[in-house]
This record gives sequence, C-alpha cells and structure tokens, in this order.
Amino acid sequence: MLSLNDSITNLSGVGPKRAAALADLGIRTINDLLLYFPFRYEDLSVKNLSEVVDQQKITLRGIVASEPTIARFGRKKVRVNFRLLVDQESVMVTFFNQPWIKNQIEADSELTVYGKWDANRRSLTGMKIVNVSNDIEAVYPANKHVRQSTIKQLVEDAYKQYQDAIVDIIPADLIQKYRLDSRKQMIYDLHFPKGQERTTAARRTAMFEEFLTFQMGLQIMKERDHQENGISINYDSELVTKLVSDLPFKLTGAQIRVIKEILRDIKSDTHMNRLLQGDVGSGKTVVAAVAMYAVVTNHKQAVLMAPTEILAEQHANNLANFFKGYDVNIALLVGGMRKKVRDSTLANIKNGTVDIIVGTHALIQDDVEFKDVGLVITDEQHRFGVHQRQLLREKGVNPDVLAMTATPIPRTLAITSYGEMDVSIIDQLPAGRKAIRTSWVKHGEWDKVLRFLAKQFVEGHQAFIVTPLIEESEAMDLQNAKELHEQLSEHFGEQFQIGLLHGQMSSDEKDQIMDEFKQGKYSAIVSTTVIEVGVDVPNATVMVIHDADRFGLAQLHQLRGRVGRGSAQAYCILVADPKNQTGRERMQIMVDTTDGFKISEADLKMRGQGDLFGKQQSGVPVFKVGDPVVDIGALQTAQIEASKIVTQNNWQQLPQYQNINNYLDQELQLNQTLD
Ligand code: ADP
Ligand code: MG
Repeated sequence: MLSLNDSITNLSGVGPKRAAALADLGIRTINDLLLYFPFRYEDLSVKNLSEVVDQQKITLRGIVASEPTIARFGRKKVRVNFRLLVDQESVMVTFFNQPWIKNQIEADSELTVYGKWDANRRSLTGMKIVNVSNDIEAVYPANKHVRQSTIKQLVEDAYKQYQDAIVDIIPADLIQKYRLDSRKQMIYDLHFPKGQERTTAARRTAMFEEFLTFQMGLQIMKERDHQENGISINYDSELVTKLVSDLPFKLTGAQIRVIKEILRDIKSDTHMNRLLQGDVGSGKTVVAAVAMYAVVTNHKQAVLMAPTEILAEQHANNLANFFKGYDVNIALLVGGMRKKVRDSTLANIKNGTVDIIVGTHALIQDDVEFKDVGLVITDEQHRFGVHQRQLLREKGVNPDVLAMTATPIPRTLAITSYGEMDVSIIDQLPAGRKAIRTSWVKHGEWDKVLRFLAKQFVEGHQAFIVTPLIEESEAMDLQNAKELHEQLSEHFGEQFQIGLLHGQMSSDEKDQIMDEFKQGKYSAIVSTTVIEVGVDVPNATVMVIHDADRFGLAQLHQLRGRVGRGSAQAYCILVADPKNQTGRERMQIMVDTTDGFKISEADLKMRGQGDLFGKQQSGVPVFKVGDPVVDIGALQTAQIEASKIVTQNNWQQLPQYQNINNYLDQELQLNQTLD
C-alpha cells in the first residue's frame, strides 16, 4: 500500500544524493513534499503592453521578429537578443546567461515570454519561455542544490502517484463547521493553482490543519506530562522562607506570586513544565534561585542552563552571592576547563557533593552524570523540547522544568503558542527602579552624543556602545566597530579608556575585557552585539546603539536592558537615520515606551510574514502556512477545537479521529515543532 509516510526515495529520480539535498529543505517523506507549499504565485497571464508598468514582471506573447543572436560579454557572460512583435510593437527581448534558450526561439513563430518590463527602453529582460497552459505558476523556496524545476517535477510525480493515499486529517465535522477543503483538494490547489480564490481557500485549510495538529500535539504532551509520575519534592518551607528574608531586597508582588506557582508545582507529584516570562531586570534570577534552593533543601540537585558561557558564569556568580553563608554547593561546568578540574567537578556532580549545577546546553548532552536532579531551569531557551527531555531520561532523570525567558510575548500569543506549558509572568519591576530614558538622534548629531558621554564619564559612569553585527558582512561590521573604537579613543584620549569587544575574540579574551570593564578600567566599551545576552555592569548607565535601525525591536529592547541595573539614572541613545516610515516608527516606539510587552507586540505586528528568522528569535513558533501573529484568531480557534477533541474519553479510539491520531503519531509534529 502506498503511504504518505513513504520515503521520498520512492519517487523516480531521487537517489541518496538528491534525498540528502531534499532533507536539507525538511523533505523526507511524500507527506513532507506535499506539504512543501509554494511561498508565492506568479501571474503568468499574458498582458497587453498598454497595461504594464515599468519594472513589472509580466508575460508577453508575440511573433519572433528576428533571428536570436548570442553575444558574449564580460567574463563568461552571455546574452541572447531577439525582437518580438507584440501588439504591432517591436520589443527587444534579452536573456542573460541562458545560452540554451536560443534553441527555443524560432523566427516567425509565436512565443510567450515571462520577464521584467523596462518601460523607458520598451524592452523585456526575459526570465523564461512560458509553455504552460496555466496562467498562475507556483514558486517554491529552492536552494543551490534543489532547483525550482526539480521540486515542481517531484511534486507533480508525487501527487500523481499518491493522490489516492491523501485522506482528510481534520475531522469531518470540523471541515464542515469551518467550510474547509478536503485535504486532497487543498494540496492540489496549493501546488497547481487555478486562481486566487481557490489558493486562498486552500491556504485556510492548510493553516487550520497545521494549527490543529500543533495544538493537539501540545495538549497531548501536556496530558502525558500530567499523567507521568513527576517527583514530589518535599522542600523545607522554613528554610526557603529564611532565604527569602535574607535577600538584600524585598521581593516584588509579582515575584512572590510566581514563586508560589512554581513551589506548588515542585511540591506536587505532577510534572512541572512551566514558562517563566519576565522583562529584562524583572528579577527572574532570584526566582530561579529560590526554586533551586527549595529543591536543594530536599537533598536533590538543580540544574541551570544558560545560552552562553559568559551568562552561565554570571549566573553562577549571582547564585554564589545569594547563597553566601548557606550550605549550598554550586558548580560551574563550561567548555575550556582544565581536565583535572572538570573531572573532579563531574565526580562531585555524580556523587552529590554538588547541589546546583550551572552551565550551557552541553550539560545535558555531554558525559555529565547527575546524582539526583529534581529541577532543570533553562534561561532563554524558550522551549524545552521532548528531545531534551529524552536526553535527560536517558540519564535516568525526569525532573520538573522551568524555562525562563525575557522575551515578552503577548499573553494571548504565549498561551496559544506554549499550550503545553503553564505560563507564569512577572509583570512588575522592582520598586525604585528609574525608567531608562531613551532618545533617538541622527548620525549628524554624534557630537552631542560625545558630549553627553563625557559628562557621564566625569561622573564616574560607564557606557556600552554597540554597533550592529550582521552575519553576511561580519568583516565589514568588525571594521566599523574598530574604526569607532579608534575614533573614540582619540577623542577621549588618556582621560577615559575605551575598550573593544567583538565576536571574533576567543571567549577568554571576551571575558577578560568584560571583567576589566566591570572593574572600571574602561569608561566605555565598543562592542558588536556580543553583549546582547550578556552581563550585569551596575555602573553602566548609557547604552548607545549605532545604526539602531538595523536591529529588531526585541533586540533593541534586550540591549537597552543591559543598563539601568544600578541606582543611577540610565540612558539609551539610538543613533539612526532610518530610510522609511516603518523605520522611523520603530525608533519612536523605543523612545515612547520601556514596556517590553508593548514593544514585542509592535515588533510582531510590524514584521511581515516570512521573516522566519526573526520570529524564531522572538520565541514565537514557526509555521509553514499560518502566522501565529496575523492569524492569532485561527490559532485560538484551533486550540479550542483541539481541546474539545483530546478531552473526550478515549478519543484515540473514536473512528472520526483515527486519521488525525495516526498523523500525530507518525508526524514529526510532536518532535519537530516542539524541539
Ligand atoms: P532578569 O534576569 O529578570 O533580567 P535579574 O534577576 O538579573 O533580572 O535582576 C536584575 C537586578 O535586580 C539584579 O541585580 C537583582 O539582584 C535585582 N533584583 C531582583 N529582584 C529585586 C527586587 N525585588 N528588588 C530589588 N532588586 C531586585
Ligand atoms: Mg537574567
């Protein structure tokens, strides 16, 4: 029997090499391929010259009016030229670097060409010869190794061979209720477009399918979590209370509330899987410390995982401060430790001498053996996936999990996107903290910034000066940072030292510069964004962000949160000349508010769909079709419907859910989306 779970290698023309290339696009099975949807459609309907505008991509049909000529130019470049008679007008058509196209062009015969129109020259830069009867063409995300045409061909073959194996996954009553397409129709219409109306309808169905399966996946996980025997940790509440009263400050109401939520989970024998959201500076670390301490009072270990080694070290130091005078052993486990030290640390973790282990993700992947872990806390990992959970189980532990994030996703979105987790939110900053004052200046006002910095330096304060780092032009950005560093060093001379920190330094070098900055050796450090997730320097009061328009809002917010950690008034200066209205609006939002939730909402709204990288960073899950921000309504509907299904007794046995149950079982959904 043919099954959509068949490997892609069942299609002719897919050998191991092509299969590997397709796997890079996430295509392993026939189902993957059928769900590999076009990201846009090209209108190939033939246009009249009178209706086209400059630079528009259009299809023209005419009679070839001259023999095509081939000309070589530059190194290895080729151009094919011919005239096409369209509506009585002779249009020059040029194809670049497709010499073979000459053979498809025959004088005096009819030809349909798709290309870009130049209205001034009355000429067309040809992109392809069109010989499909279809007016709309699907365009797939492709790459160097898998071409557009290959994907097209494979999709066509797959559909032909497997169409009878396509069954509805969405239960019939929901298809009816929301007037959705059958799965077969949906797949057909998205790949072989027959007009916008049908592709739009198909997209709705595809979106509902992915949202519904996503939500069911989350809820099944949650259900499993609750059934699984977690550990009931009988912590010593007297000791915990003592720790809290020994803190150098009073906890905020929000901190107390989330600590209670967490402690309740820790005590209960159900499994905790909780997301702790709180803006930068809201005091998540203390909450983590209290939770970990609770576990330690019950003679179990707690693990804290940070995204970088610098941060892990900072956490370890902070914890050491909180636990001064307490009988709590903290171990830091990072790369680059001397073997002897590492070995003894590992031994102490294994034999239980160590209570709290702080490190990077490597903690759960490496050869680390724990004695008895009761709680794992992750910092900025967003989602603690099944995969990671599995790794822990293989180490013989199944602890409670708390994921901390400073990314303030709007609550509705958090609840719909993290449906498998319980959500705790710290929505209050410690009292007495002064809001950071943000201003936006143009590059031309740099002198003003320098004067302001000088004033702050004289008062003994310090500044971060951040320049953007974008992967593709790392060398150039580094150059910018270096030049800025030189310029500032010259400007401030002997009086105020300026440091430089960038991503190409070893972590030892970075740590050294950071330490020196903390100790006050530098008045400012110029840095590429490597400090984004970094370090507490209470004496740093100014954050200058160069070319601020090259950062996402969420990122700007994170950067800004690096200052204002002490008692002095803090400032953030955005230096940018944004080129468009959106850019200006983004700067203005930063000036207007320090509320991370407002900023993230604006950020999500302003991003177009398809900015997947950005979204991944912002902690919102990535879907193939739907957009959890734009389509939040559909996501919520799917959540409600999913919950109606999975809360029915033995729903897996009911015939109407057979397909979706099988699908969820087999699909990567559970593994991939949640990892
Ligand atoms: P986050 O990790 O959420 O960004 P931190 O836990 O690093 O925030 O806290 C930021 C700073 O505020 C730290 O120096 C911390 O000691 C301090 N802090 C935390 N909670 C309070 C509080 N309730 N009152 C005063 N200061 C606090
Ligand atoms: Mg923190």
